[in-house]
Amino acid sequence: MLKIQDYRPQPFIDFTKAENVQAYEAALKKVRAELVGKHYPMVIDGERVDTAEKLTSLNPCDTSEVVGTTAKATIEDAERALQGAWKAFETWKTWDMDARARILLKASAKLKERRLEACALMSIEVGKNYAEADVEVAEAIDFLEYYARSAMKYSGFGSSETTWFEGEENGLMSLPLGVGVSISPWNFPCAIFVGMLAAPIVVGNCVIAKPAEDSGLIAGFIADIMYEAGLPAGVLQFLPGVGKDVGEYLTTHAKTRFITFTGSRAVGLHINEVAAKVQPGQKWIKKVVLELGGKDGMIVDETADLEVAITAAVQGAFGFNGQKCSAMSRLIVVDAVYDDVVNGFVERAGKLKMGTGEENANVTAVVNQMSFDKIKGYLELAPQEGKVLLGGEAPGECNGKQGYYIQATIVGDVKRDARMAQEEIFGPVISVIRAKDWQDALDIANSTEYGLTGGVCSRDRARLEQARQELEVGNLYFNRKITGAIVGVQPFGGYNMSGTDSKAGGPDYLAYFMQLKTVTERW
Ligand code: NAD
Repeated sequence: MLKIQDYRPQPFIDFTKAENVQAYEAALKKVRAELVGKHYPMVIDGERVDTAEKLTSLNPCDTSEVVGTTAKATIEDAERALQGAWKAFETWKTWDMDARARILLKASAKLKERRLEACALMSIEVGKNYAEADVEVAEAIDFLEYYARSAMKYSGFGSSETTWFEGEENGLMSLPLGVGVSISPWNFPCAIFVGMLAAPIVVGNCVIAKPAEDSGLIAGFIADIMYEAGLPAGVLQFLPGVGKDVGEYLTTHAKTRFITFTGSRAVGLHINEVAAKVQPGQKWIKKVVLELGGKDGMIVDETADLEVAITAAVQGAFGFNGQKCSAMSRLIVVDAVYDDVVNGFVERAGKLKMGTGEENANVTAVVNQMSFDKIKGYLELAPQEGKVLLGGEAPGECNGKQGYYIQATIVGDVKRDARMAQEEIFGPVISVIRAKDWQDALDIANSTEYGLTGGVCSRDRARLEQARQELEVGNLYFNRKITGAIVGVQPFGGYNMSGTDSKAGGPDYLAYFMQLKTVTERW
């Protein structure tokens, strides 16, 4: 019997051990020999289907290298995927919950076997260093294990959840919704891609998974694992393509029952709008789950252990070059300790090494030209909005390799309402904001429209309790970094413009992909 109580998150690999580094290097060699240069077609109704045009994935740390290609789905392909998925749904919805869950567990076992390959592929395709890639693949395994087990509570007819009533049997059935589209970002191209397809699928839905344009190879690698684990044809339609073409087509379509989207605020709000418009022939109100951006702040007050705070700031700010929705992009420091914290932060961040993901550098290249140009725009703005204390350059080159390299950058004395303090930059560029005192710091932290992660470094119990109540974020951390949520341990998702607070990896996440039927029988 599968039980959620048996779920345990994956331990991370310790890369201070030489044998683990060697194993990673061996995986990089294997991936270079077997996966780099590969082409992933679409998979529709269990058939591999190709397109005339292709999407090309570049190595962001060495843009002269093509990592591989995927098909580029057309509108006709999207239509076929949708129709086929509805056909597959007729059977898939009748499977026992434990039989569906077993496929996720088998996929998890396969991913565990190929953990370092998946990591190495991400080092090359999106520039993750070893630890960043490893925690991500661990998260993907966790999603499979956690959702497989948490699905069990929805199986069967749950009369235990309704109140006894004389002369009748009453109970709830949890039913899948139908066919949905899952649209994922490049920054967690393995974990988020897996989580967003596994959750709806395990409870009986069929999914069209559209990965991000920059990370099609790791998505293809994961889709293959799902098929090898035994997903029947049509349950998962793998549809690499361009968001504003096939993504737009599917989110607008009358036959799309639900949408699960992780990505930027702008695209998420657009999807919310088009999905709300009822199309001719549409029979339902689409369910939309959105996980969007952040402008995440960490407060440091005068009672904090400053060493702890500085470590948390460096880890939260620069892990994967700040390209995490949870990344600490605002450091809010009370005046009394501002200089000590900022000096320590600049000194520690100044030691970060720039290089490629494959070299296991601390700061690698950002994902693509568009990100590079956007972040460069903020670097140009930085001297007007604050004092550049570290970095500030976008060399676009490192150790002779052309790539989207941006220096780890810290900008001090940024005003709370400056653009750099309000807009999501999504790169290694941090705004430090000076607060008068604790209450001022809390006000600053709450002064954005986002509400994803946040943190407080303080030893004052009353302040921590106040922050627990008042900080408007979906994930709040005290005296540690504000990134790195673990599935089942820290259910993840934001409020306000950061999303619908659906808490991926949380106890109620699967309910988003089901509808309840109350059944009453009079005896
Ligand atoms: P993005 O919004 O540019 O793209 C996300 C996905 O949407 C891609 O697959 C893209 O092809 C697709 N898309 C683009 N236009 C579309 C359209 N009109 N219709 C349908 N689909 C469309 O985001 P990104 O650059 O890939 O990812 C970075 C963003 O994601 C950041 O804002 C980050 O904060 C956010 N993010 C949030 C979370 C979270 O859990 N809240 C997690 C990771 C990333």
